[in-house]
Amino acid sequence: MTSPLPPSGAPRLVSQPAPSRLPHRLMAAIMVLGALGSAGAVTGHLRMVRLESAVDAMELEREQASRLLRTLLLAETSLHHYLTHDRMEGMRRFLDATALLETAQSQAARQRVLLDAAPGAVEKQALEDFVRHLLLVRHRLLSQPDMAIWLPDGEAERMAILAHAAVQRFVDDSRVWLQRETARLHLWQDGVLALVLGSALLAGVGLMLAWAMVRRAIARAETQEAALARRTEELQALLRMNETLQACQTRADVEQVVAHTAAQVLAGVPGSLYLYPAEQREMLERAAHWEGPPEGPAAMEALHCWGVKRGRTHLCGQGMGCSEAGCAGETLCLPVAARGELFGMLRFALPNALAEGPPGRHQRRIAEALADGVALSLANITLREKLRAEAMRDSLTGLYNRRFLEEIAPAFLRQVERRGADLCVALLDIDHFKQVNDGFGHAVGDAVLRRAAGLLHATLRRSDICCRYGGEEFLLLLPDCDIGAAFEKLEALRERVAELHESADTALPPITASFGLAQVPAGATSLEDSIRQADEALYAAKQSGRNRVVSAPLLARLRALQATAAPDRPGG
Ligand code: GH3
Ligand code: MG
Ligand code: MG
Repeated sequence: MTSPLPPSGAPRLVSQPAPSRLPHRLMAAIMVLGALGSAGAVTGHLRMVRLESAVDAMELEREQASRLLRTLLLAETSLHHYLTHDRMEGMRRFLDATALLETAQSQAARQRVLLDAAPGAVEKQALEDFVRHLLLVRHRLLSQPDMAIWLPDGEAERMAILAHAAVQRFVDDSRVWLQRETARLHLWQDGVLALVLGSALLAGVGLMLAWAMVRRAIARAETQEAALARRTEELQALLRMNETLQACQTRADVEQVVAHTAAQVLAGVPGSLYLYPAEQREMLERAAHWEGPPEGPAAMEALHCWGVKRGRTHLCGQGMGCSEAGCAGETLCLPVAARGELFGMLRFALPNALAEGPPGRHQRRIAEALADGVALSLANITLREKLRAEAMRDSLTGLYNRRFLEEIAPAFLRQVERRGADLCVALLDIDHFKQVNDGFGHAVGDAVLRRAAGLLHATLRRSDICCRYGGEEFLLLLPDCDIGAAFEKLEALRERVAELHESADTALPPITASFGLAQVPAGATSLEDSIRQADEALYAAKQSGRNRVVSAPLLARLRALQATAAPDRPGG
């Protein structure tokens, strides 16, 4: 028989622990922190950019104010020089300086100083007045060089000092502002840098965690895939086992398939199959075992097993064990029963570690599937054998029927031929049986047939074959018996048939039978010719008065004699 399973290693079971939620929570926290850090860094950066542009703008304003201050000083000193020393050179320098006062930058710087809070109102007014004065002087010098109007020395000097102070205050104030804002800018830069670094660190940690999670998920998926593949393999093995079991023709086939499959689907678990021997329902006998030496007794009473008594799977070793049935330690006992009939039991010695928990439960389910498959297969075989036996036997007499004869005839002939033994075939027909039926009824006729069959069964050897060939006609196959011995045997039988009604409890009519005998020639491949010869001999027995045995060779000789004598007869 081919193996119902692949030769690969035994499938084993893997329990899957519930996945931890911690990495997912950690990952979520990292993502939230990373998002917050990035948002903070972007906000800080925007704020930094704004601060930088404000500082740049203030730097420019301070620069322009400083330039204004220098221009005012230059205008004032060059005017002084014009008045005290060199008129032309002083005037030229004064005009250059005051020309700068009219530029847009100078005016913007002046406006900025006027708008600033640091200089006082008097100083601002002085700045306005001083610039207006300088521009007036410039105008006069350009239009009427000799008619320049000068302020009294003290007044111009006071205005110049206050104007300078106004611009200087603005410059100083802006420097302080710039220092303060630059410090803030540095703080923001540090903060943004810290946030960027923190976010990068978190991103790195997140990536590593994600990598670890992905690896874990892949490993988990691989484990699950492997477990699924093993389950599929187990299922396929069980399916194949069922398929093979249903194809089993004999109990030996079943025993072989079970031993093979159990060793595959429950690898490492020793087990045995106990069955009732054929036509015996007292003791269960060990029919097969696998995975190590046989465990438990070779035979035991079925009712010593709790699995059989309960009619369901029983795990011994948990308080209630089948000690009388030889169960030691934890043993799984499963009744093998189907269609209301118990065929035996399956027994597995489960290792302690696997008896409880999901793997243990799974193993029990496999063992139960095995027991169910075996039971169904045995039920099918039993049914098939029963049907076959019924089809081969005559229901009234219990003897074999004609179909049986047709089926076994070739093998029977071959066997006799191999042994070089003699073989005779005989036909037995009850005489005037119709009269029995007509006179005493069919029930009595049936009783006569049964008694005749019983007589045949009791008289013939075990090696002889007797079957009901027709209504009240029986065919006998007599091996190891030459024609002479067969004739004597049939004569004895004929006499015993005639004595039947005398030994009967019920009132049977007188019964006799006629016999036709023929020898099967050596090397015959069919019984057909011999049966025809026996039938002719039987016919001759009937013709010559019934209740006698006629052998075909004798009949042939008789006919030959008649044939030679006939031409001598007058008119023949
Ligand atoms: P012969 O001596 O020539 O053999 O006469 P016979 O009456 O025995 O032969 P025949 O063939 O005329 O009748 C056979 C009878 O056997 C007819 C049939 O009703 C009866 N018979 C056949 N099978 C059974 C059976 O199973 N039970 C009963 N009771 N009768 C049967
Ligand atoms: Mg007949
Ligand atoms: Mg008859």
